[in-house]
Amino acid sequence: MCEGLVERYVAAMVLSAAGDALGFCNRKWEFLQDGERIHQQLAELGGLDAIDVERWRVSDDTVMHLATAEALLQAGKGPSLARLYPLLAKHYQDCMEDMAGRAPGETSVHNSMRLEPEKANGWRIPFNNHEGGCGAAMRAMCIGLRFPHLSQLDTLTQVSIESGRMTHHHPTGYLGALVSALFTAYAVNGVPPRQWGKGLMEVLPEARKYIVQSGYFVEENLQHWSYFQNQWEKYLKLRGILDGKSAPVFPQPFEVKERDQFYTSLSYSGWGGSSGHDAPMIAYDAILAAGDSWKELAHRAFFHGGDSDSTATIAGCWWGVMHGFKGVSPSNYEKLEYRQRLEKTARALYSLGSNEDTVISL
Ligand code: ADP
Ligand code: MG
Repeated sequence: MCEGLVERYVAAMVLSAAGDALGFCNRKWEFLQDGERIHQQLAELGGLDAIDVERWRVSDDTVMHLATAEALLQAGKGPSLARLYPLLAKHYQDCMEDMAGRAPGETSVHNSMRLEPEKANGWRIPFNNHEGGCGAAMRAMCIGLRFPHLSQLDTLTQVSIESGRMTHHHPTGYLGALVSALFTAYAVNGVPPRQWGKGLMEVLPEARKYIVQSGYFVEENLQHWSYFQNQWEKYLKLRGILDGKSAPVFPQPFEVKERDQFYTSLSYSGWGGSSGHDAPMIAYDAILAAGDSWKELAHRAFFHGGDSDSTATIAGCWWGVMHGFKGVSPSNYEKLEYRQRLEKTARALYSLGSNEDTVISL
């Protein structure tokens, strides 16, 4: 791994949480379904660079992302997945005590509380047709920091799926976790963003094979598989990047209002970014357009009429891996809640992730 990567791991964890806090705005902006009003209020605050996040709490997304990361760390080196899964379940359950004022998703809360980490297979829940929300996707990026090597792709796939379906046992939900983790690993490896979508299309058949092999609610999962895949294929075609080579094409104009309309058009039920397919899709759309501009990323992925804290949490992480803290106003993250904990976690993930290049199995 290249020099400076440890700092980019730190930026990934910290800027993911900074994005969360900014997109959340203490509940106000997560639920304000009008991007133009959010941008108006942002301007009244003096714009992004002027925001000091001291009083901007992180939301459920970051609390659960930290839960994933800390479970991965507790499982240790070359973890057996049989040890890791109950730990993930335990951390998801325990972190529910830290949800006051953080607007946690209903599915995440309900199902985390149902888990029985101490019992054999107590980390598993049955299939459910209503579990396609973005709760699995918003907390899975660090799986790509933990298993970044291409030789670990199977592990990344399995861990993201199982972590996801502990609360979201529906392909649209847990495949969102796969995208969050996979694109993080691509960013660590310096893969250009325009190739990520094609990479996902190639990994999906492997994910499907894993679902079949795992032998758990196979029929139901396969029956509901196509929505996620079709939505992604449609999106990649629209941007002209299904080949993984071409430059993305954006409509003109594509300002706040047009973006809001586009994000809504991607959605399952009218709230862009609240599902497992479209939260990472909106984050990706912002990454493709933002280049190395934190401000452009924020305008597209943090400040819009959809589920803005979740798209922000995902986009902030990917951007941090690629660009570190370059050009980010320190006031956006210096006094951020949990900053020390996020940094410590990032450094530990780096140590584990960079020193290990083995294939792990159950
Ligand atoms: P969480 O945020 O924990 O994922 P929520 O219950 O708050 O859980 O998320 C609900 C969101 O997920 C809603 O916007 C809903 O439209 C969406 N959703 C629920 N089921 C599906 C599904 N099968 N496919 C896509 N989106 C879904
Ligand atoms: Mg949230």
